[in-house]
Parts: sequence; C-alpha cells; structure tokens
Amino acid sequence: MSTLTGERPAILGGAPVRTSDYPAWPVWDDRERDLLVDTLDAGGWWQGDGQQAASFAAAFATYHSARHGLALTNGTHTLEAALAACDVGEGDEVVVPGITFIASASAVLAVNATPVLVDIDPETLCIDPAAVEAAITPATKAVIAVHVAGAAADLDALTDLCDRYDLRLIEDCAHAHGTFWRGRGVGSWGDFGSFSMQRSKLMTAGEGGVLICNDDELRDRAWSYADCGRQAGEWFYHHPNYGSNLRMTEWQGAVLTAQLERFPEQNERRNTAAVALGAALEEIEGVRPQRRDERMDSQGNYCYVFHYDTEAFAGLPLRQFEAALGAEGIPMGVSYPSLNELAIFRTGNFGPRLRDSAPAIDYSSVRLPVAEHAAASTVWLQHRLLLADVEDVLDVARAVSRIQQHAAEIVSDKGSTT
Ligand SMILES: *Cc1c(COP(=O)(O)O)cnc(C)c1O
Repeated sequence: MSTLTGERPAILGGAPVRTSDYPAWPVWDDRERDLLVDTLDAGGWWQGDGQQAASFAAAFATYHSARHGLALTNGTHTLEAALAACDVGEGDEVVVPGITFIASASAVLAVNATPVLVDIDPETLCIDPAAVEAAITPATKAVIAVHVAGAAADLDALTDLCDRYDLRLIEDCAHAHGTFWRGRGVGSWGDFGSFSMQRSKLMTAGEGGVLICNDDELRDRAWSYADCGRQAGEWFYHHPNYGSNLRMTEWQGAVLTAQLERFPEQNERRNTAAVALGAALEEIEGVRPQRRDERMDSQGNYCYVFHYDTEAFAGLPLRQFEAALGAEGIPMGVSYPSLNELAIFRTGNFGPRLRDSAPAIDYSSVRLPVAEHAAASTVWLQHRLLLADVEDVLDVARAVSRIQQHAAEIVSDKGSTT
C-alpha cells in the first residue's frame, strides 16, 4: 500500500488511484431477460394471475429464515403494511432511529401515528436500545429498527426490550438483504421484516418491496391491507377491512427471481471485500469502519461506511474529503441527515397527518447528538465497489492514505477546488 505514497491526489491534479471504473449496478443477464419474456408470453401480468411475484417473495422469505413473504410495491409500503397489520394508528407512538431514510418515519405518518425519533449507537449507527427504552410512554406501540448499511441493530437487546414492554418490533431491512444474526436472517427476528428492492438496493427490480414474517395472523392482516382490504379465500368484492393496493407486479417478480438466484454469491463477495477493506482502513489513523457486531454471520452491505476524523486529515472537512475520494475514482454516496434535521420535522409539515389527535411532540427541539454527529462525520461508499476483486477494493484504502498525506495541501488549495 505504500507504493503510491507521495503521489499527488487527483483533486490536486495527480493521476487518480483508479483508472477503470468499478462494476456497474444493477447486474443482470439473460436470466432476467428470459423470465421477463416468459412473463409477457404467459399473459398473467398481475400478481392475482401470475406466479413470479408470489414465488419470489416466498423464496426470499425462506432465504431470510421467515415463513411468509409478501410481494409489495416498495420498501415504504412494506413498512406501512406492517404497521397497519400491527394495528398501529392514530394516537400511537412508534420509535424510529435518527439515521435512516425518511421512509422509516414517513410510513409511521402514513398510518397517522407519531414517530418518536431517538438516538443511535455511535459505532454500529443503528438504533440504541437504551434510547428506545428511555422513549417509551403509555402510547408507544412499536419500534422500527433499521439495520443501517446492513449492520444489524442489536436484535438480542431489542427483542428482549419489546417483549418486556409488549411492543411490536418491525425491522427495516432495506439495507440488509443477506445480513444474518446468530444464524438467522434479519427480518425474521421481529414481528415483521421490511425489504426494499428499489434501484440502489442489494437486489433490485427498479422498485419493489418484500415484507416477511412468521405469524400467520399478522401475515393475513398485512396482505389484507396491501390487497384493498380483501380477506383471503373470500369473494373478490368482499372488503371487510380498510386497505390499499400495494401489490408488486409480475414484471418485478420476474426480475427479482433472477436477482435472488445470483444473490448468495454476490453477498459472499461483498462480505469478503468488506472485511478486507475494513482491515486495511483500520491501519489508517483517523478512519474507523462502521462496527460489524460479532453476532452477525454476514452483512448485506447496502453501503460501505466508515467514520472520518478531520483532525487526522489536517482539518480537511468531510465534504472535501468526499470530493477528493470521488476524484480518485471511488464511487461515493453520502450519509442521510439525522431525521430531526429534515425540513419536514423542523416545520411539522405533515400534510393531512397528525392533526388534532396527535401526541404533542415539538420536533424542532428534538436533538439527537450521536446521530447528528454521525451524519456529519461518516463516509458512505456505494456497494457496487464491493463486487470488484479484493485488490481493486483495497484501492479505497490507498486513496484514503494518499489524501491523508496531502491533506494540508488540499486544505490550503480549497479556494480553487469544490
Ligand atoms: C430505501 C429505503 C426504504 C424505502 O424503500 P423504497 O423501496 O424506496 O420505498 C425504507 N427504509 C430504508 C432504510 C431505505 O433505505
């Protein structure tokens, strides 16, 4: 790794560490094409007449150690259906972590319940069980745990806590396809596991979602919500419940069947690469990989995340460090802001939701110091780089070292960059 020492960073005009791009995402081949054409020719284009979506969701559930899998439109609607199936609604509170995509909170608003934002563990970046416990009130009905960038939240502590307080646990696994915790897939530990198959996720049909669970009654309730309030086995126009239409199409099911066949090998590749990259980054002062809990057997890396300490980089601000890494040819993402910093919570602009009946939370005064700090000090890399050969993946560490060696120059050059 020292061979590149002394070379100028690309952001200062040097040759970039990477001269070719990393593998592209998404990945597909004739398998997706064949299944799509088969679906077209079979004529059963909606889930009610077809096989692809339902059989994919069943296979995906089995892969993640759950009994049931529902094929839904996306990973926002899966959360909404899970909350509805758990009878969460007006007047109820749902505990949500600060570092996540807006959907983890907006799904709570969708069922007209109140999101209660809590802080995260500084090392895993996942919901802090102690913060959950401190936030519990008589109105608390459920907890949404997000497995951030595929790193599992502390499922032992959370399942125990939810048992003790009689709360529902919904795992938001949108980042965590292929994360296994003590021998079992994530999503199978809580009442529900919610997965997204949107374009950026670890398997994709552009859009899509799967909701997994083990309980028969919860499964039926979630499906009823997603299928216009119908009841399984009853007449098509019998609607005993409130529901909406959240069904996945057969096109998505066809593509995802092929994506799932390819997934275990990709997951293994990403894990090997992530572990190797973690070891290399730990050698660099001021850089600390997101913690992989030792109770995880594997981590579905939605992103590769590490903590960044500006002081070890001559004060180089995070955004400039990211720009410098991007210039070296490293595919960059970016951290979510902490939810409490989003305009929707600052203004309380919830549209038709949370009107008179809502528990009064002054979101503008909510502070989540750990989440806010993490949002301002973590680097998020795109998962596609983890599909490269390990030597190529280690270029990330080489690029970080090179930037560190020239950090002071980049700082003093900052007027001419950005
Ligand atoms: C992507 C994502 C979702 C929502 O999934 P969509 O399929 O885009 O609706 C929910 N939660 C998290 C943490 C996500 O990253």
